[in-house]
Amino acid sequence: MSKKILITGGAGFIGSHVVRLFVNKYSDYNIFNLDSLTYAGNLENLKDIEEEANYHFIKADINDEKLIDSLFQEYRFDSVIHLAAESHVDRSIKDPLAFVKTNIIGTLNLLNAFKKLWNDNFEDKRFYHVSTDEVYGTLGESGLFKETTSYSPNSPYSASKASSDHFVRAYGETYNLPYVITNCSNNYGQNQFPEKLIPLFINNIINHKPLPVYGDGNYTRDWLYVVDHARAIDLVFHEGKNAETYNIGGFNEWKNIDLVKLLCKQMDEKLGRDKGSSENLITYVKDRPGHDLRYAIDANKINKELGWEPSVTFEQGLSITIDWYLNNQEWLNHVTSGEYQSYYKKQYQ
Ligand code: NAD
Repeated sequence: MSKKILITGGAGFIGSHVVRLFVNKYSDYNIFNLDSLTYAGNLENLKDIEEEANYHFIKADINDEKLIDSLFQEYRFDSVIHLAAESHVDRSIKDPLAFVKTNIIGTLNLLNAFKKLWNDNFEDKRFYHVSTDEVYGTLGESGLFKETTSYSPNSPYSASKASSDHFVRAYGETYNLPYVITNCSNNYGQNQFPEKLIPLFINNIINHKPLPVYGDGNYTRDWLYVVDHARAIDLVFHEGKNAETYNIGGFNEWKNIDLVKLLCKQMDEKLGRDKGSSENLITYVKDRPGHDLRYAIDANKINKELGWEPSVTFEQGLSITIDWYLNNQEWLNHVTSGEYQSYYKKQYQ
C-alpha cells in the first residue's frame, strides 16, 4: 500500500487516534494530518507524536477548493483517510449550511483533487471515507443496521454524511475512483470534546453540575471505544475490498439512561463519593427534534471478512475513559476555557 497518506480531521477526536496509530505503526509511511482547527480540532491531542519524523501537520480548510487542489499537486498523496467533518448533531440543527459546506462540498473538493492528481491511474491508491451509522436513520425496538440497509437520515448532520457517502460511491462508479466507506456507531474515549454525552457527563459529575438526559432517556445507542474504531480503520484501509462498505460497531447497545447510571456508579467509586450521589444530578430535558430512537450495528461483515472485533468491553472502555479524563484535567480545562486554540500558534507559528 501507498506511502504518503493524507488523514483529514486528524486533530479531532477519532482522527487523532487514527493519526497516532498510523504514525507509530508505519514508520515507512508519511502521515499528513490536514485540519483547519475548528473548535473541535485540538493539536494537544497529538503532543506525544508531533516530533516524529513521519508526521506532518498541514493547517488547511477542505472547503478551500484551490488550496486543496494545490496541496494534492504538491504532496502527491497516494491515499486519503477522510475524517474532517462537522460532527455534532445539535449544532447541525442550529446551522445546517455549515454541515453542507464541510461535509458535502469539502468531501467533493477532496474527491476532485484526488481524481485530478491520479488521472485514472489509480493503482495502489485508495480514498477512504469515514462515516456514521446515523445515515441509516432510526430502528424500532428490534433489528440491526446492515451494509444493505437503505439510507434514511433524519438530522442535517446525518443527511450531510449520507450525501457525502453517496458522492464517494458515485465517484467510484463514474470515474473508477478506488474507495472504501465505513459506517460506525457512537464512539467514546480519550480526547473527545466535552459537548458529547460521555465526556460532558464526566466533566459535569466532576463539577457537581446537572446531567441533562434527553426525553425519557430510552434512546438507545451502540457504543464503541475509539481505539477499536482506529484499529478497524487500519484494517479496512489495508485489507478492505475496493468499492465496499463496512459497518463498525461494538455489539454493545445501551439505553441512554442505563449508560448514565453506569457512568455515575463508576464515577462515584473512582471519586470516593457516596453511592448514588452522581445519579442525583440526572435531569430530564426537552427532547432533541428528530431524535432517532435506536441505532444498532450488525458488524458481522467486518468481523467475518477481516477478523475485526472490539478489544475491550464497554465497562472496561468506560473505566479507561473516566480514568483518562480524571488524570488529564489540564486537557479538559484547556478545552473548556478555549485555551487549546492557542496551542497551534505556540507550536507552529
Ligand atoms: P470531531 O468533531 O472531533 O473532529 C473533526 C475534525 O475535523 C476537527 O479536528 C476539525 O478541526 C476538523 N475539521 C472540521 N471542519 C474542517 C474543515 N472544513 N477543513 C478541515 N478540517 C476540518 O469529529 P469526530 O467525532 O472525531 O468524527 C470524525 C469523523 O468520524 C467524522 O467524519 C464523523 O462523521 C465520523 N464519525 C464520528 C462518530 C462519533 O461517534 N464521533 C461515529 C461515526 C463516524
